[in-house]
Amino acid sequence: MDEDFLEVVNAIEAVIKASTLCKKVRMDLAGGVSILKNDRSPVTIADYGSQAIICKWIREKFPSDTIVAEEDSTELKKPEHSRILEQVTRYVNDFVPGASSKEVCSWIDFSSHVVTDRFWALDPIDGTKGFLRGDQFAIALALIENGVVKLGILACPNLYVDMSHPFGEKGCIFVGLEGRGSVQMDENGINQRAISVSKEINSSEAIITESVESDHADHLAHQRLAEKLHITRSSLKMDSQAKYGVVARGEATLYLRVPSPSEPGYKEKVWDHAAGSIIAEEAGGKVSDVLGHPLDFSSGIKMKKNRGIVVSNGILHNAVLKALEV
Ligand code: AMP
Ligand code: MG
Repeated sequence: MDEDFLEVVNAIEAVIKASTLCKKVRMDLAGGVSILKNDRSPVTIADYGSQAIICKWIREKFPSDTIVAEEDSTELKKPEHSRILEQVTRYVNDFVPGASSKEVCSWIDFSSHVVTDRFWALDPIDGTKGFLRGDQFAIALALIENGVVKLGILACPNLYVDMSHPFGEKGCIFVGLEGRGSVQMDENGINQRAISVSKEINSSEAIITESVESDHADHLAHQRLAEKLHITRSSLKMDSQAKYGVVARGEATLYLRVPSPSEPGYKEKVWDHAAGSIIAEEAGGKVSDVLGHPLDFSSGIKMKKNRGIVVSNGILHNAVLKALEV
């Protein structure tokens, strides 16, 4: 890992560029038009631009590494989406002057959906629905070796640096490094500070964070769990892996993701959890599925062996798992 430690700074820089592109698309076009993929989920100019920039960086620095990223350029290359491809190229040109649409598509397609012994998991915009609403979204990049997350970087351009100052500065980057703890920095990669989870020992005082989208998790099951644990505070609804960030810095105590009844067999995707999970764990938290099993980052893009997600401050983990048992 030693040589990779040196690359952490570079990886953060690539994520900052992607995050700047996403913010620009948001400011100029309020997210812009989106393409609906086969699974009915949206993808935007910013998703493609962010993936192109980060994949290009990984390929230059680590030519033999596998990249497992959410998007590919199949839809983007269709004639009916030529205007969108032009816009993606224009935004990428701010960072790579002169790059052609063909090159941009080839960078997006450096990614495959094949998990190997060492790979980078990338969600170029996690929480695209939040991005389109003007709410939370994240750029999530993780390095995984033999199923173990070594490095996680999460840029959350819309997240308050400190939620207790709601009129304060927005835009945070979280970094978790195996065995070295987790830090938060501002959106330019400066003002770094170590972060740690809440020390709360009373489950009744816990603050739960969960998805905004009711199709992504079983909010009723979360509410039942809250009642069992005598939690009275209302939950913090938030898109994207920003939820891992707020647990990691102690603003929420639990992140719950019980599978939604609308898709009970849903399998979580590696790029939706790899970066966030190391950030929460290195900040002292615990991450498992709802059955208490460790997250499986080694058997494919879908985490086949897992069901849902539970993230806690560690202290309350067993109490939560027990309360989730039927
Ligand atoms: P969140 O912002 O926490 O609601 O999560 C956004 C992520 O949810 C997206 O990146 C999708 O990959 C993922 N997702 C899509 N459908 C589902 C589903 N039925 N259950 C759980 N997660 C889903
Ligand atoms: Mg995602």
